[in-house]
Amino acid sequence: MAKDHNPDLKNNGNGDSSRQLASCNTVSGVQNSRGIVIKNTGNLYLVRTEDGNDINCTAKGHFRLKGIRSTSPVVVGDRVHIEHQIGEGMAYIVKIDERKNYIVRKASKLSKHSHILAANIDLTLLCITVSSPETTTVFIDRFLATAEAYNVPVCLVFNKIDIFDEIDLEYVDALMNLYSIIGYQCLRSSVVTGEGIAEIKELVANKTTLLAGHSGVGKSSIINELQSEMALKVGEISNVHNMGMHTTTFSEMIELDGGGFVIDTPGIKGFGTIDMEVSEVSHYFREIFKFSAKCRFNSCMHINEPDCAVIDAVENHYISQSRYKSYLNIIEDIGPDKYR
Ligand code: GDP
Ligand code: ZN
Repeated sequence: MAKDHNPDLKNNGNGDSSRQLASCNTVSGVQNSRGIVIKNTGNLYLVRTEDGNDINCTAKGHFRLKGIRSTSPVVVGDRVHIEHQIGEGMAYIVKIDERKNYIVRKASKLSKHSHILAANIDLTLLCITVSSPETTTVFIDRFLATAEAYNVPVCLVFNKIDIFDEIDLEYVDALMNLYSIIGYQCLRSSVVTGEGIAEIKELVANKTTLLAGHSGVGKSSIINELQSEMALKVGEISNVHNMGMHTTTFSEMIELDGGGFVIDTPGIKGFGTIDMEVSEVSHYFREIFKFSAKCRFNSCMHINEPDCAVIDAVENHYISQSRYKSYLNIIEDIGPDKYR
């Protein structure tokens, strides 16, 4: 997958959807508007229109993503055009604007099907706890590599800083040092002491932010800190879509008091490295990519080749062992059949 890859969206059911939309403007009884998908529940979507209304929608026709088979064609964060029959409760999504990025998860390890969690993300807060529960560096690095591949900026948030002993805190410092040097913003936070919360508020203002991380690391607690009236807002939203949205919510956006949205995705676990070729993986580890320019072979995988600048940099501690281990871990996972 190319770094600047943008999914090509097509409305196969209705031909050229933008042309169709233009002609619909002249049909009486049909209202067209634009909005952003703030909730996705199975085949039903809640769209917040530009004039601030929340409208229930279904997708008209079949939106297909080129090169990717997704379990959900329209996702939270999508900018959409909708067609609304006056007097009817339901509206149709007739066009999706090109996505600037998106976050994807494989439906299962061996499956080619993928699940797009959210689109048009300005910032991802990857919430990490070094214990209770443990977030491994392999998990962090897989997430970062995938985010690089999809052009999603990430800030690492080391949460629950209040519960850690000296050894854990030293480990947090070491990780923050490691990832800052690579170029990722890092911060410490605690919803108990309030450390880092003001910084997070400032970071997310007027952006669409995704909170990611294992279940139990404190994502909901952080969202609560960002949104004083969140409970009320969630209640308001659920009153609007009383039209059979009883199935599992895939993702949801919560509007922030200070402007912007936060995307709440239920438990991102095995964050996949979909469509990543073995030869591409090093592109998504910034420091490995930098050193790879000096390898003897252009095709070097940095595994056991002679004159490999990456292995050399690992041995000389310019690249961390843990990052290199994660790199190998991803390559092993992609499998030997994809080596060539
Ligand atoms: P989520 O699954 O990532 O949304 O995590 P939750 O927000 O539900 O938090 C899981 C548990 O950790 C809850 O019992 C929270 O009260 C607790 N928790 C979250 N953040 C912190 C923190 O900064 N410090 C402490 N001590 N507990 C926290
Ligand atoms: Zn190499």
